[in-house]
Amino acid sequence: MDELLNQFFAYAPWIGFLLIVAVVYFTTRGHLHRHVVPFGQTFACNQCGHRDKRDHMVPVVREGSVLWYCHRHAA
Ligand SMILES: [Zn+2]
Repeated sequence: MDELLNQFFAYAPWIGFLLIVAVVYFTTRGHLHRHVVPFGQTFACNQCGHRDKRDHMVPVVREGSVLWYCHRHAA
């Protein structure tokens, strides 16, 4: 039984390491395939369709869902 535990703890860090490598590999590959800007999503203005990064857009909560507006249409 002790030997089984020793074996588990000998392999566990490697399995964890391989999992992290796999996750990083698939997420970076997904980003490249979708041509997505790595830092932050973009949102389209609900009024004029202008698309920009999150910090340039204003979220407006209406009827339980979030709508995004550009600075011109947020007021
Ligand atoms: Zn707008």
